[in-house]
Amino acid sequence: MTGIAFIGLGNMGAPMARNLMKAGHRLALFDQSAAAAAKLSEPGVRAAGSVADAVKGAEVVISMLPAGEHVTAVYLEKGGAIESAAKGALLLDCSTIDVTTARRVHEAAAAKGLQMLDAPVSGGVGGAEAASLTFMAGGSEAAFERARPILSAMGKTVVHAGGPGNGQAAKICNNLMLGISMIGTCEAFVLAEKLGLAPEKLFEISSRSSGQSWSLTSYCPVPGPLPTSPANRDYKPGFTGSMMLKDLRLAQEAASAARIPSPLGAQAMQIYQLMETAGEGGADFSGVIRLLRKR
Ligand code: NAD
Repeated sequence: MTGIAFIGLGNMGAPMARNLMKAGHRLALFDQSAAAAAKLSEPGVRAAGSVADAVKGAEVVISMLPAGEHVTAVYLEKGGAIESAAKGALLLDCSTIDVTTARRVHEAAAAKGLQMLDAPVSGGVGGAEAASLTFMAGGSEAAFERARPILSAMGKTVVHAGGPGNGQAAKICNNLMLGISMIGTCEAFVLAEKLGLAPEKLFEISSRSSGQSWSLTSYCPVPGPLPTSPANRDYKPGFTGSMMLKDLRLAQEAASAARIPSPLGAQAMQIYQLMETAGEGGADFSGVIRLLRKR
């Protein structure tokens, strides 16, 4: 049983924290929103009043926050997790944020002698609830081996992606592929409709041909061929268009900083931006097909 401080109890953090409780760990919880924190007022859980209060005496600190600015505030500010952490604590930031901020937080942790991993996830709210997330972790081998049993209580696949920041690098590269492939899949289904080719037939053929992808066979963007995909429930997420937009922005920022071209990533980002501007950012990202049909 490990003493864990969990900071950020939103859509992802709350079910992740619940799985740690189920695994028998001792939790101290903090969220700046009292409503979010109240969701987990279960016996044996300590509701903390601040980041400093939550991390006091914790062996492991886990955060699940919206973006780099929130991670900076939680870890680097006065009274933050790095200043307040117990000697020898292990820090695990599971948020999806920019690589530069992730590496800055790693440096500050190392300067205080604390082990850290950036460990963003794939799998969404469903994966968080089912403890079937994929974690991609950046940091030292020693930190990774120490974190493995904790991450395994919240996920099914835990991969060490390399040094500090490499978890975030893996996450944005993965979602760069995914964001682009989903738009390509949507374009093909819209064209098939116009050509009189039934979606079930396109699915049957392409799922066994070279057009096969996760976007097609796990997340098919039209209702019918794959009953579990969000298209069958009016594009209820899943993973929202706005979240895909956020990750593609991070990928573009990274590509720009690395001075490499990412023309399809840039185009995909603009298309998910159009989806958000059309007021559909809260729908599943496969709902981008509705925008392509309208246009
Ligand atoms: P969310 O907005 O539901 O939750 C974030 C929580 O952090 C909120 O409750 C907020 O009050 C809290 N918070 C913000 N600043 C804080 C601070 N300074 N101190 C304490 N608490 C603070 O977001 P989410 O959907 O849970 O996503 C969290 C992270 O996971 C994001 O980085 C997101 O990109 C990533 N992610 C989300 C999904 C998904 O499907 N939702 C999938 C993969 C990755």
